[in-house]
Amino acid sequence: MTRDFLEATCVECPRGCRLSVRRAGGEVSVSGAACPRGEAWGRRELLSPARVLTGTVRTTSSDMPRLPVRTREAIPLDKLMEAARALSSVIASGPLVPGDPVVEDFAGLGVDLLATACLPPDSLP
Ligand code: SF4
Repeated sequence: MTRDFLEATCVECPRGCRLSVRRAGGEVSVSGAACPRGEAWGRRELLSPARVLTGTVRTTSSDMPRLPVRTREAIPLDKLMEAARALSSVIASGPLVPGDPVVEDFAGLGVDLLATACLPPDSLP
């Protein structure tokens, strides 16, 4: 869905500027941003909104049955629900440290799913 107007709070830093983003005649204008980073965020938010997916996945470890994960980069907002559902089919095995890929090209989205916590190796039976 394309929009021509958006009001949103910039999430690029804690200052949280309130932005108005408008598209008219092929031009996008951003008001309310205190810096270029926020202007760029406002443009992206209007033209191609995306979010980093966070969640947890199952593991093979009985000591730590769930592992927190995130996507390496933001994914298109309209793919977020589908990607969240795909987390349920992931099973992680240790050892992993934060930043290690759990799944490459997660759900065919072209981004890796990363561990955000340590997962120790499975203990021997
Ligand atoms: S516009 Fe700039 S200063 Fe304002 S919240 Fe966004 S990043 Fe921070």
